[in-house]
Amino acid sequence: MTQQEYGPHDGYFSKHLGETDFEVAAAIEGELKRQQQGIELIASENIVSQASLDALGAAIVNKTVEGYPGKRYYGGVEFADKVETLAIERAKKLFGCAFANVQPHSGSQANQAVYLALLNPGDTVLSMALASGGHLSHGAKPNLTGKWMNVIQYGVSPDTGLIDIEQVRELARTHKPKLIICGGSAYPRTIDFRVFREIADETGAWLLADMAHFAGLVAGGAHPSPLAHAHVTTATTYKNLRGVRGGLILCNDEDLAKKFNSAVFPGIQGSSILNAIAAKAVCLGEALRPEFSDYAAYVLANARALAATLMARGVSIVSGGTDTPLMLADLRDLGITGVDASESLERAGLTCNKNAVPGDTQPPTVTSGLRFGASAGTTRGFRKDEFRQIGNLIADVLMGLKSDGPEGNGSVETSTRDQAFALCARYPIYPNL
Ligand SMILES: *Cc1c(COP(=O)(O)O)cnc(C)c1O
Repeated sequence: MTQQEYGPHDGYFSKHLGETDFEVAAAIEGELKRQQQGIELIASENIVSQASLDALGAAIVNKTVEGYPGKRYYGGVEFADKVETLAIERAKKLFGCAFANVQPHSGSQANQAVYLALLNPGDTVLSMALASGGHLSHGAKPNLTGKWMNVIQYGVSPDTGLIDIEQVRELARTHKPKLIICGGSAYPRTIDFRVFREIADETGAWLLADMAHFAGLVAGGAHPSPLAHAHVTTATTYKNLRGVRGGLILCNDEDLAKKFNSAVFPGIQGSSILNAIAAKAVCLGEALRPEFSDYAAYVLANARALAATLMARGVSIVSGGTDTPLMLADLRDLGITGVDASESLERAGLTCNKNAVPGDTQPPTVTSGLRFGASAGTTRGFRKDEFRQIGNLIADVLMGLKSDGPEGNGSVETSTRDQAFALCARYPIYPNL
């Protein structure tokens, strides 16, 4: 018998998706075109290298492993161990820490593993409220963390948009949390990690720094590192760090590292997504190259250029600027909502997300703000001039909404879309796909 007779159907091992499944292939192709032709300003997105895509699509996906390099439950792990060890060693070198776990499937899983390692159900956690720029996985009500922990939350001052560190200290003294979390999804400024640690030490808490949104800046030396101050630091690999989807747990203490390892596996995850770990190793390798420091510096300069342009055009920016890849526009002065603005911008070829602003009275489905990030555009090759142009395009669309009402101004949207398209055409992505 030949393989054809008893094996998988003709072409199973050789035909590409476009030859075998037109529906899925068409949706994937549509998404590629969308990315190629529009300006991506969603702060949680970036554009990975072709090399990362190669790793993600490699046959290593077939391998099942549980446990850690050198301590596996299955055989045939020689190359799996090589790949995971590369990712671990690169993460340690990049962030200058002693221990790294590269298995979390996402940032939320990385945080969950920290909770499992350090807390018991019902323990008290002190974190930043979602409405002030925190994250779902930091104890939001509908999240597992919000259901299983006693969560106390600090906010930001509605006037300055900044963390009120004295409020954090007060809440910590009053509630004696077992874990304090700093770092968020929509907080644009540098966090004083040293003072957070001082408060944690004074009140007997662990300190978790979640650097999901600025890990690339830390890696590239464009933002202070939390690693020397926090007991544990978590990150996502796919935002500012410019890799594929996934999470990291980093620390300097061996006992804690052991706890985090067993919290990830067998605590909350089973087998690893090895192709994602391979792709994480690729992005960490890219971030170790000297060019990545340039990337980080450009992201910060570009984010600041975008914020300055928007402010010059009369768009309020929470806290008056940014120290990270992201910023928050407060649309209340303009009398428009986040949902109308993000929809109008999408029609105009610019994607971003609606976001609550400090003191927002609109529901989360509406909001009064927009969040913008510079990570993806910078990867594409945009520099300050392009981000100033983007700032003006955004402002044109917002002013169109202000003058013409929630449906937006169709001709402004069309002309913006043409300009966004032209800008993208000058900085193409994935020429070989
Ligand atoms: C994005 C993000 C995460 C992780 O999100 P996942 O979607 O689970 O990867 C965690 N913490 C913060 C602060 C984030 O911004």
